[in-house]
Amino acid sequence: MTSALPARAPRLRGARALFTGRAGGVGAGDYATLNLARHVGDEDGVVDRNRALVAAEIGAPLVFAEQVHSPDVHVLPEHGPVPVPVITADALVTRRSDVALAIMVADCLPVLLSDETAGVIAVAHAGRAGLLGGVLENTLAAMAELGAVAEQISASIGPSICGSCYEVPEEMRADSSLVLPATWSLTRWGTPALDLRAGAVSVLTGAGLPAAEIDVDHPCTLECEDFFSYRRQARTGRFAGVVRRR
Ligand SMILES: [Zn+2]
Repeated sequence: MTSALPARAPRLRGARALFTGRAGGVGAGDYATLNLARHVGDEDGVVDRNRALVAAEIGAPLVFAEQVHSPDVHVLPEHGPVPVPVITADALVTRRSDVALAIMVADCLPVLLSDETAGVIAVAHAGRAGLLGGVLENTLAAMAELGAVAEQISASIGPSICGSCYEVPEEMRADSSLVLPATWSLTRWGTPALDLRAGAVSVLTGAGLPAAEIDVDHPCTLECEDFFSYRRQARTGRFAGVVRRR
């Protein structure tokens, strides 16, 4: 397997986790090289080959959701064939160990969660809309229904746009920080911004996750060209956060 995969390998209790980057795939041009998303203009055949590379790296078939910036969560069936990735949701939860959960991003937050004791894993796509709409709270609730306990959950918030780069209109910052005060931020150049990572951390710690179990030490996608960034380039690919039970 190519050494370019994974781009980041966060430690998550009871799970194997990785974040892909741009390197290690077979795509070209704006999508070079490891785009994992359909419907962004890349060739389906290339996307399929890239997905196969990531599945081989994690050692299990990947389950993707059809992401729509919603707060909706899908819990995989406990048994049966690997679900076809046409589920509309922005988070996936499972106790299964024969599949890997994958979530695609290019500036939004890829959030990976694992409760080793309960044997429950999850992935969530947390952009501004999903985060403010409660996608993380809903994901934790779905994990709890499978036996997870917040105090036992470790989390990794992967490469994503940082609070010093994510410039937004003043009104959007005001509205967002009313819902989630930790999102209030300033760009490096002094204009209104949102810090979605800080917002996500506040949701997770507010729900009871130990702060020491939340990993946020990953690059900013706008600043680091190892990752796709929609803000940097509208015509671009998507990278993924992937988790599988160990
Ligand atoms: Zn940044």
